[in-house]
Amino acid sequence: MPPLILTRLAPSTYYIPSPSNVGMYVNDNEAILIDSGNDKEAGRQILKILKERNRELSLIINTHSNADHIGGNEFLQKRTGCRIAATAMEAALTEHPVLESTILNGAYPHKRLRNKFLLAKPSLVTDIIPNNNPVLDTQLNAVPLPGHFLDMIAVQTPDNVLFTADSIISEEILSKYHIHFLYDVKAHFETLEMLKKREDKLFVPSHGKPVGLHEFKDLVNFNEQKIRENIDVVLNSTMTAATSEEILALVCNHYSIELNANQYVLIFSTVRSILSYLLDDNQVDIIYNSGRMLWRKL
Ligand SMILES: [Zn+2]
Repeated sequence: MPPLILTRLAPSTYYIPSPSNVGMYVNDNEAILIDSGNDKEAGRQILKILKERNRELSLIINTHSNADHIGGNEFLQKRTGCRIAATAMEAALTEHPVLESTILNGAYPHKRLRNKFLLAKPSLVTDIIPNNNPVLDTQLNAVPLPGHFLDMIAVQTPDNVLFTADSIISEEILSKYHIHFLYDVKAHFETLEMLKKREDKLFVPSHGKPVGLHEFKDLVNFNEQKIRENIDVVLNSTMTAATSEEILALVCNHYSIELNANQYVLIFSTVRSILSYLLDDNQVDIIYNSGRMLWRKL
């Protein structure tokens, strides 16, 4: 991993650009992190950055429990004794990370799914927080972002910087990978509508560069269009009755996606979440036939 560098965004708000961006809010000598990076190595480098600046880590606020956002938790908590705050459902997975790969696989996760991308080390969530309002006694605010995962939050600092977690993905990444993990499609659309109305100064997605208000609105629209395109691709794959796995194959074929163990569970889960959304919206139906469950466009 190349060395991580602390970048200032506003008087008291910083971030550490990395594959999974880490936010930092400082108050006197105290630092609060927003997520903790991909893995132990990220944690190690974050601790070095804090020490060089004589900052004491008091708290990590996790936006959600995906392994690339809580990867540094265990190392940082062991070294500093910091508190960790998360919403209740995300806390369950942070303390029991095997639940993430279990949810994704819908079964016991085989050995090829037990890797650092899907399975972080467990850490102790000291504070269960609501998905809105001030976080504990800090000056930071949680903003609910349902959709991408179980109960994800954004975190707003008093400098009017909003860390938007995985609600919005950069244009570059979305154009390359086409489909981003999604759990609750309907809730995600509502989150996008909420984000269109935000008036913060700066927005920091976990995967991508910080953007100003105008560019952020364009990015929200781009994300929305891309998800609508994903939904169309899934819906078109049900013209003839097809199993979930056949639909996955059509989606991968459409976007020229090569699968591996992680991609298979992530994209398959997203495709099935889109199918759930389409069934709830009465656009598809389910047929059980000869031991197969088929989806068909209505
Ligand atoms: Zn992420």
